[in-house]
Amino acid sequence: MTAQSNPNQVIPGSNKPKKRGIRTFLNHQTLRRLSQIGVGSFITYLIVRNALIGENSGIATTSPEAYCPFGGLETLYKYITTGTSFVSHTHLSNVVMLIAVLVVALLFRSAFCGWLCPLGYLQDLVSKVSGFLQKRIPGLRRGISSLKEKGTRLAVLDRYLRYLKYLVLLWAVGGAAVFGYMVFRDFDPWSALINIAEFSFTPGLIILIITLIASIFIERPWCRYACPLGAASGLLGKLSPTNLKRDANVCTSCKICTKTCPMGLKIHDVTTVKSVDCVTCLECVDACPINGALEVKIGLPVIGK
Ligand code: SF4
Ligand code: SF4
Repeated sequence: MTAQSNPNQVIPGSNKPKKRGIRTFLNHQTLRRLSQIGVGSFITYLIVRNALIGENSGIATTSPEAYCPFGGLETLYKYITTGTSFVSHTHLSNVVMLIAVLVVALLFRSAFCGWLCPLGYLQDLVSKVSGFLQKRIPGLRRGISSLKEKGTRLAVLDRYLRYLKYLVLLWAVGGAAVFGYMVFRDFDPWSALINIAEFSFTPGLIILIITLIASIFIERPWCRYACPLGAASGLLGKLSPTNLKRDANVCTSCKICTKTCPMGLKIHDVTTVKSVDCVTCLECVDACPINGALEVKIGLPVIGK
């Protein structure tokens, strides 16, 4: 009988618990938080700066919009066909950012979403604060748990809602190519956030508020269901040599990895995480208590669902 078929069986010398120590403080999550905070601080600086002193019309890169890689995707068609011009609100810097994100996707799958994207970090923050308060306020925990229980009846929708982001991708990129302007901009929660100082009531602002409220109950709702950049990055990431592998001979099927995954992926019963929705956050790897059960491996791309 294998360790997988009997979760309680311990194979001597194989499924040893991980050693904890200095690495606990220097693990992937510390580095990830530092990189998220770094990017988030830079964008916050640009947002505050623009709100206080306005954009310097001579230097496009003082606008936070100039750093949006998705703007690069929206303007790509116009840039390629004209060779010089961009759809409004985008610059060459957006194309450069897009290329950087695509290179990251080719190397490390959607690591941009897990390690750098400020909107992803904002959702992480709301979920962490929600978890922190639930641990300390039993009434709040009971209320949220009962709402979550009601929500599990809609869990079947989760699988299908994840396809929504590809439609958003098609609409945003196709719309910009056909009409020559960013059709998605008014609906984009990121655009609403970086232009928050303008106090304009757009559909994007409503989507941003819904996203942040939903993050109290479910982790990364925008990334799971609607983000067009995550959709593009996830698809390209399929060609990446970086794979997350579970060793069924060592794994105890404790399901801690699955419970930890912010993207709601089932990890404990696959041998390779192939989902386009994986944001390479490595929370599952850090949470796994067994040495060698779940590891990042470099190899040939693993295509498939
Ligand atoms: S599978 Fe692991 S690395 Fe991928 S999103 Fe889930 S927790 Fe993060
Ligand atoms: S956390 Fe996941 S990979 Fe690690 S032992 Fe538990 S089920 Fe296996």
